[in-house]
Amino acid sequence: MCGIFGVSGVDRAAELTYSGLYSLQHRGQESAGIVSVDESLHVHSRRGMGLVQDVVTPTALSELPGDTAVGHTRYSTAGSSVLVNAQPCIVNYHHGPLALAHNGNLTNATQLRSDLVRNGSIFQSSSDSEVIVHLIARSEAREPEDQILDALERIEGAYSLILTVGRTLYAIVDPRGFRPLVVGKLNGGYVVASETCALDIIGAERERELQPGEWLKIDDGRIKNLPDLEPKPHRRCVFELVYFSRPDSVVFGRSVEATRRALGRHLAREHPAPECDCVFSVPDSSNAMALGFAQESGLALEHGLIRNHYVGRTFISPDQSSRSAKVRIKYNPVREVINGKRVVVVDDSLVRGTTAKSLIQMIRQAGAREIHLRIASPPITGSCYYGIDTPTRDELVASNRSVEEIRQYLGLESLEYLSLESMLAAAGGDQGSYCHACFSGDYPIPPPDDKVEGDAASELIPATRNNRP
Ligand code: AMP
Repeated sequence: MCGIFGVSGVDRAAELTYSGLYSLQHRGQESAGIVSVDESLHVHSRRGMGLVQDVVTPTALSELPGDTAVGHTRYSTAGSSVLVNAQPCIVNYHHGPLALAHNGNLTNATQLRSDLVRNGSIFQSSSDSEVIVHLIARSEAREPEDQILDALERIEGAYSLILTVGRTLYAIVDPRGFRPLVVGKLNGGYVVASETCALDIIGAERERELQPGEWLKIDDGRIKNLPDLEPKPHRRCVFELVYFSRPDSVVFGRSVEATRRALGRHLAREHPAPECDCVFSVPDSSNAMALGFAQESGLALEHGLIRNHYVGRTFISPDQSSRSAKVRIKYNPVREVINGKRVVVVDDSLVRGTTAKSLIQMIRQAGAREIHLRIASPPITGSCYYGIDTPTRDELVASNRSVEEIRQYLGLESLEYLSLESMLAAAGGDQGSYCHACFSGDYPIPPPDDKVEGDAASELIPATRNNRP
């Protein structure tokens, strides 16, 4: 998963990009980068491992002039977590410098890369996004837009893209629309971002969300729609609403905060806990869900867990024991709230179950009489191949355990998950337009075949997983 941001036709574009990326930091914390293009078409870039504020220092920012910029924050879902995979990708292309920022995951990258390598392409990174750049450069079409289209017609999977060719900026969403992308106006120019929160932070006026298959060209303060990509059934990622996006964003036309409250209300209706004394969230991602649960059930909403916001990358953990240690450092129970009580704990999702396992022990030690865990989404039973980093299937706590077995494993009085139907009802809009493959196994595009032999492509999938739940 990644955050992407672009500016066209606004002075000090890199500074705006910095602020935008800052508010998209939740979408990726492994690497960050900004590329700017100045009036003479010179490209300036800063990319590195870590958070935006660590990578793009004030000095680095002052060396990124121009009114055009693209930025990226990265969580690896294809290709390992190393500097060469940091984006935006930059290449010298025959129509000028090209910079590309990609959010999503291509499902046929391994095969495409293999073909490209066989035909002489030399890759600098192991990320799937570089495949797009090579396809553009190798297209036999003459004009940049036709070359980009050639590339888009060959790639499959999830992609929201911002790319610049010289000072022309393109914003593209794949035909299924897995990942969000929004455009706004600022000071006579335009801004494109993964989420609306990034427009708000720089005072840009929200114009609209890009629809699946939509392709915009922004040049000299003018915005133009290029012909839509070939239509496919829409598959908006429901997990963006459940967990990934920020609550102050509007994603797929839905307020994320309102959607999460609705998830909490549905959860309280479907799985009430009337004998309990209070309800609290696992902060921060399930705050709105616990609020919805409290509103619907009439239970008192409490702060039963306090989250330390300063848990840095030191605690990001490659193995299970250090992951549990991270949970203990990240959360602390409020004994005054919990002691002697029958509590409902609301969380947005269970992935490996690591967070819940440690939290339940903590809450028990803080004196809870009964613990009833309510999850505001269905059991995650499969990996995501479209840009959310989920572990392999056998690491998922629900892939081969019943809800009752998970309840026993976590040591709970009760455990209930929201049903798929209720999750989709809470998400609202056209329920058929969501991708819920990780919950339902209904994969809109076949999972990638990463068994292509004969080149370094095998490194593409899966990503190095060192910092996931
Ligand atoms: P786990 O401890 O593996 O069960 O992880 C569950 C917690 O991680 C939930 O409380 C979610 O808020 C959060 N979470 C869910 N999916 C992801 C993801 N793809 N990346 C990072 N955190 C996640």
